[in-house]
Amino acid sequence: MQDDTSARHDLPDANVRASSYYVLQAQHLCKHCQQTTLVFALAVPPNHESTEADIDLDEDASRLGLAPGEFHDWLFSPEQWQTIPGPALLTQIGSVSAPVALTLQRLASALRQDAAQGAQWTNFCEHCGNAVWEGALYPTPGQPFCPEDDATAAQITVHTIDAPFDGYARMIWTDRYRNKWPLFKRLGVACSEAD
Ligand SMILES: [Zn+2]
Repeated sequence: MQDDTSARHDLPDANVRASSYYVLQAQHLCKHCQQTTLVFALAVPPNHESTEADIDLDEDASRLGLAPGEFHDWLFSPEQWQTIPGPALLTQIGSVSAPVALTLQRLASALRQDAAQGAQWTNFCEHCGNAVWEGALYPTPGQPFCPEDDATAAQITVHTIDAPFDGYARMIWTDRYRNKWPLFKRLGVACSEAD
């Protein structure tokens, strides 16, 4: 089946796409040189599309009327784009489209492809040039892109890019990760208890 939106996208292996995106900017204390350096991250707004949706398997399998094996095939078929109602923080980014790469070059030059990590998009310290380990930036509350409250979230600079995003991210932090709620609130998205 032909996807009528494919023409505007130029990254065949993308697993996330959106009509706009965010470049997030924060400060990080480099563990190599003990100096403060700028670090950058990418996020997409509500109603982005993903092929990696963490949906309720039982509910959707029954709704689709598929046997479990068929459902697995359907779920992991590469063309299966789904609209995700919430925002997402993207990490372990393997590739981005050429226009996104140009924007990063202009706006977030510390974030670039790391040949030592299979060309994964990685932050580099502006002082000593060492790669900044992603585990120091994203997963744990209190880290630059996992603020614990509004006050620390306010220290993140948000650049909204009103242009399409296409990329491949190995780790997609949706609003199912409650510790990302203060970050998403900084993006103007209120996450609530109601499910
Ligand atoms: Zn450094």
